[in-house]
Amino acid sequence: MDILPRDGDPTLGPRKRNEYCGVAGFSSSLDVSRFLYFSLRALQHRGQESAGIATYRNNTISVYKGMGLVHEVFNSSILDSLSSNVGIGHVRYSTMGGSKPENAQPIHIYTMEHEIAVAHNGEIVNVEELKNFLGSMGSAFVTKSDSEVIARLLAYEITKHGVIQGLKNTVRRLVGAFSLALLIDDRLFAIRDPLGIRPLALGKISDGYGVASESTAFHALGGEFLRDVLPGEIVEIKKDGFVTHYVFERKNKAHCMFEYVYFARADSVIDGRSVYEVRRKIGRILAREHPAKADFVIPVPDSGRAHALGYAEESGIPYAEGLMKNRYVERTFIMPSQESRVMEINMKLSPVKSVIENRSIVLVDDSIVRGNTMRKIVKMLKDAGAREVHVRIGSPPIIAPCYLGIDMKTRDQFIATGRSIEEIARIIGADSLGYISIDGLVEAIGLPGNDICLGCLTGRYPVPIKGEKIRFQSDLEEF
Ligand code: SF4
Repeated sequence: MDILPRDGDPTLGPRKRNEYCGVAGFSSSLDVSRFLYFSLRALQHRGQESAGIATYRNNTISVYKGMGLVHEVFNSSILDSLSSNVGIGHVRYSTMGGSKPENAQPIHIYTMEHEIAVAHNGEIVNVEELKNFLGSMGSAFVTKSDSEVIARLLAYEITKHGVIQGLKNTVRRLVGAFSLALLIDDRLFAIRDPLGIRPLALGKISDGYGVASESTAFHALGGEFLRDVLPGEIVEIKKDGFVTHYVFERKNKAHCMFEYVYFARADSVIDGRSVYEVRRKIGRILAREHPAKADFVIPVPDSGRAHALGYAEESGIPYAEGLMKNRYVERTFIMPSQESRVMEINMKLSPVKSVIENRSIVLVDDSIVRGNTMRKIVKMLKDAGAREVHVRIGSPPIIAPCYLGIDMKTRDQFIATGRSIEEIARIIGADSLGYISIDGLVEAIGLPGNDICLGCLTGRYPVPIKGEKIRFQSDLEEF
């Protein structure tokens, strides 16, 4: 994956830091501030730009948020000042609204009767329409974030209809991707959009329960993952259990295929599928669809590791670590010049010559977006003496933007747009190139194809988006 680096990943070349978001929320008879802190650290791969926590204490919601990684934003005394039995947290990369401190979450607003705090992962596609409506009702906005639109819509609806009906109306009016952790005063809610685009997991912690973007957060807390929030479900989380208030049932879902291919942590389980096992299966199918003659299968660390293992298992070609990663390199944004970036590339990844020299290599990664990273890695392997480099990719070519929470917004940024596989192979310097097919990817994920979002691979989206095609016309009628 070449435009979505994580802290410590091989951030090669001039690519943007394009993560999106992670949310968490806990209710317990114990103080939840540390649960929030450690769950956000476990979700750090989902957003590295800002972090925030909101808790209900002394009859009001207290919020602390800032730019940076979770451990840079919070310290022990800040967490002490947030101590409470109920709260939510957020890590962010902006998909809408830009990289500014005021867009950090949770977003906190007041109504006449309530205080609301919102932590949102996803992207709302009818945001302009909702803004116009709310503006005409007298709402003013202090950020450009779609998450603030959710908060203000919720404020409007619960003022008019009460908390539970207000939540239902809000879900009904939002179009797009939203996994939410919400505080309404001291009540904690988790909501997932009816298509289930982004993941959201429920779990048990010490003397309480909670919600997090990925199941792995509960493991980090010594807790237990219980189940996914259902697509369209509104759940209230209390210290002694969950109450489901409503489930908006849809005929088809649209789970983001990229969560399985790249975004989620490999140790997470999403909608009943182990992310690690999906990636291994992708590798096995890739080996069947695009065999190669080679001495070793090597991954691009860490993103291609499970895919490469699957490829090696299926092909019988030995797996080897041909690229080593230095985990302790500063993040790209503090090294702005081209020269610095080149140095950084060499600091972040280096070839293991004994594996590479005079060998034919199958190089496996999860995806190619711009192609800059892959071109540099192939060159690195060739410079280290590789005889041949056969590149195999665990997602089909990305050809269309994402409007549902991943920062891939323009068609011209994709190397695969308007190019043949042979042309792409030439640009990245590979001796051969093979992408898994869409059918192969769907088989590896193991969910029905009609329940998976493939928008950025097909240009057909699960929700109506101006100027784009919708995947099933009947879905439009379901809204
Ligand atoms: S368009 Fe692509 S990245 Fe966006 S939600 Fe759909 S599958 Fe995921």
